[in-house]
Amino acid sequence: MTDLTTKSLAELRDGLKKREFSALEAMDAYLDAIAAANPRLNAYIVVTADKAREMARASDARLARGEGGPLEGVPLGIKDLFATIGVHTQAASHVLDGFAPEYESTVTSHLWRDGAVMLGKLNMDEFAMGSSNETSYYGPVINPWRAAGSNRDLVPGGSSGGSAAAVSAWLCAGATATDTGGSIRQPAAFSGIVGIKPTYGRCSRWGIVAFASSLDQAGPIARTVTDTAIMLTSMAGFDNKDSTSVDLAVPDFAAAVERGVKGLVIGVPREYRMDGMPEEIETLWTKGLEWLRAEGAVIKDISLPHTRYALPAYYIVAPAEASSNLARYDGVKYGLRKTGKDITDLYELTRAEGFGREVKRRVMIGTYVLSAGYYDAYYVRAQKVRTLIKRDFEDAFDQGVDAILTPATPSAAFGVGDEEMNSDPVKMYLNDVFTVTVNMAGLPGLSVPGGKDASGLPLGLQLIGRPFDEETLFAAARVIERNRGEGFSPEKWW
Ligand code: GLN
Repeated sequence: MTDLTTKSLAELRDGLKKREFSALEAMDAYLDAIAAANPRLNAYIVVTADKAREMARASDARLARGEGGPLEGVPLGIKDLFATIGVHTQAASHVLDGFAPEYESTVTSHLWRDGAVMLGKLNMDEFAMGSSNETSYYGPVINPWRAAGSNRDLVPGGSSGGSAAAVSAWLCAGATATDTGGSIRQPAAFSGIVGIKPTYGRCSRWGIVAFASSLDQAGPIARTVTDTAIMLTSMAGFDNKDSTSVDLAVPDFAAAVERGVKGLVIGVPREYRMDGMPEEIETLWTKGLEWLRAEGAVIKDISLPHTRYALPAYYIVAPAEASSNLARYDGVKYGLRKTGKDITDLYELTRAEGFGREVKRRVMIGTYVLSAGYYDAYYVRAQKVRTLIKRDFEDAFDQGVDAILTPATPSAAFGVGDEEMNSDPVKMYLNDVFTVTVNMAGLPGLSVPGGKDASGLPLGLQLIGRPFDEETLFAAARVIERNRGEGFSPEKWW
């Protein structure tokens, strides 16, 4: 039998439905692949093999009866940020040691409702804070891609680095991920796969460990545009347990994938042409525009004048919300507890030991920008900037723009422990320069591989859409995926 793990999610789903192979066979193929790869890639924190087989058997029983949902028997990996009942849910943090929730997140419960099967929990940056998956308590994730002629370990991006590496290395058919400032799109770009952050409100945040609640949004990472569309259709939907979830019908996103781009207006924001941007990113962007134009799209130069303020404003708003959200980890209610001479001592010792350096940095920045003397100067100002960023996009859409094309990241994947990136947190934060605007404005953003750099590493293009118009992004991304050609799977070395 051909290796079941290299099938796309759509092929796997169809083969299962036709009963060409069983859900248990597919599951075992993935469990074997994980056992072989994980010691090297560190994508999974926990593999729930018994639960996985039990779920697969239940899927097989449903398929045998001619029943089953749209994802029946499809094995998925789940980012450690999603609450999964009775299973390790620690946001890859030490402070949540031993936490296994008594409830299931809405997004994962939608996936199980549709028949998907869980392989385990995926590594990530601690509390989703990071761009390289190096802040995880469980150690870094290694990108399955390597530069030509090099055996240096590269980062898969972050914070959904485990999700991206697992999908890219055929360790699951698709994965859940979350994106507060780029954590779906940047790792997808670094790992040669597809990821979409849907419109804020499209997926319920209930049962997802909160980072910055006004920016956090769940979405899928998968190997093809169609696969992400299939997953998002299941993940999305109104939930009265999340007051920011939107009561809108969920389209069949996969039906939009082959719609084409004829007549669509694609905006090109001049502010995304950054000083010192590598030549190959520029070339990639131009190629993407040419493919879209050749298939009937109209390319239009636009201006998003407040772009340069997005990153600094994000690094005020996100830490501010994080410092509030993370106040609950005090050693009393969850996870790790370090007892001290009194309750204050207990809080301090637990938080000092439980949080990693980057999380502590965010909590300190957040506490500072929210403190009485600085609230107006930093937090209120950042919120005003946020409104201006949102307005920039609205103006572009008012001028008839249907979607915007930009690079996804300013570079390809960099090395694990890269000195430059780790010498100054701002250098690491610059990874998000093209992605944070989208979270600040609450818009949908998709990253699709469009080309490679000189050393053969994948590069991603980002499509940004109108609120709740993910369908146009899938259609445009498919055009890029079709035109860019093959060769977006890593050479297996692990
Ligand atoms: N890299 C960004 C940060 O560290 C974004 C993270 C995310 O989207 N969760 O905040």
